Amino acid sequence: MFSNPSGITRALQSFRIENQALCYSNFIPKLYNWCLKLGFTRDSIMPSRAFCSDESQGVPIILLAKHFGVFPFNHGRVGGIVSVDRHGPHADHGKDLMLLQSSHVGHDPETGEFGVYRRLHTENAHNSCSCGKIGFILEWYRTEYRYARENVRLTRFDGQPVVLVDNLLLNTERKQGLFLNLERLVQHDAAGKFFTLNTLSTAYALPAADALIERLGIASWPEHGSVELGGRLAPEDFYFKHIFANHDPFQDQLERNMLAPMPWIVSAKHPLLTAACVNTQAEFDRTYRSLAHNPAMHDKNMLFISGINIDLSPTDQSHFPLTQFVPWAAYLHLADGTRQILEQDELLDTLAGMSADNPNQICFDESIEIMSNVPKVRIQL
Ligand SMILES: [Zn+2]
Repeated sequence: MFSNPSGITRALQSFRIENQALCYSNFIPKLYNWCLKLGFTRDSIMPSRAFCSDESQGVPIILLAKHFGVFPFNHGRVGGIVSVDRHGPHADHGKDLMLLQSSHVGHDPETGEFGVYRRLHTENAHNSCSCGKIGFILEWYRTEYRYARENVRLTRFDGQPVVLVDNLLLNTERKQGLFLNLERLVQHDAAGKFFTLNTLSTAYALPAADALIERLGIASWPEHGSVELGGRLAPEDFYFKHIFANHDPFQDQLERNMLAPMPWIVSAKHPLLTAACVNTQAEFDRTYRSLAHNPAMHDKNMLFISGINIDLSPTDQSHFPLTQFVPWAAYLHLADGTRQILEQDELLDTLAGMSADNPNQICFDESIEIMSNVPKVRIQL
């Protein structure tokens, strides 16, 4: 999916967000009714979720428990990574199975900002990064990106448009960092060798590629001095290398999912939103493959659905966020051999056709009342 620049651009464009979001209070009963329509047995469905560990993900879990009548199996790791080694235990806990995977991002509708969430339980109820795990991973890449934006510069030598490239960015011996696709920026011969016009103290001066001059316009090169390439550094102009040191590959899965599309993430208008979409797209593909030939799924009905959770911060009057779900894709794997992938449009149409009324939903207060009235069982050894 994220194998080459044009594929990455297409994949990101295909995940549409605007006007595609469903309120969780509406989405979960529809999902439950879809399961029934597929022939899943009422009271024998084991829901499962692969969400981040963030407290903002609580409402979807509460609603899953309410509408499916059972607390959902935990299939997830921080960041919305699916523990694909838990398919067996999940399959063992129910006749019919549903798995909901979601990466998440905070959103402030007043400012339009993505990537923030109000932490009502902090001393001053401040906003902080959401998803924090994704934000933490992005920090290193965003620092590298900022350096490249400032240290690839446009200038002129004898009137000729030139690109000044910092020595560090030209060092191909580095094990990790941001690397330029120089052939897009500067002139080179058929063998890929670059022409050096001048060697400065910390940078090289290289004649600008015709394609770059055409892309930016010759007026982008100042008559005197130099200017940073800045936001004109396109995602196709660079890539990242990063050393993964964890022995447990699951620990790095979130970062691995984002590595190839990272230039698009750091250049995006809303990097944390784009990162959440990328992670969900990668996790859907990876999890689908892990389910398709899994022996634990052999005689099971399974509905796997992926999307992103957009968390609208709680207000002083509310306990919980108003989380919305944007579906990306679903995979249907039925015991009768039916196999089907539903892309975003088809998935949205399917959910739109389901009732949001669920007479089977449980009442938590009643359930807790029943439990509290049962005589205490003595634990005996
Ligand atoms: Zn998170």
